[in-house]
Amino acid sequence: MVYRFTIYHDIPKSHEIKIHRIDCSSYVNRDPGAVNSDWRTAYDFQTALTITKKLSEEDAVNYRMYKKCKPS
Ligand SMILES: [Zn+2]
Repeated sequence: MVYRFTIYHDIPKSHEIKIHRIDCSSYVNRDPGAVNSDWRTAYDFQTALTITKKLSEEDAVNYRMYKKCKPS
């Protein structure tokens, strides 16, 4: 299986959690050395959403999904 979605979660927990497609430029062009970024991966959208909601509850931050990264 191939990861199809990725979740952006920042360590200071100060920003919204965001779901992206795995080929989104936000993920492709990420800084792999960034210590404050925690990118999670998921095989499908439902899993990505589950992870995101859990992180959102734990950190008490909102989550959001960009239109262009929504599953078609
Ligand atoms: Zn995106």
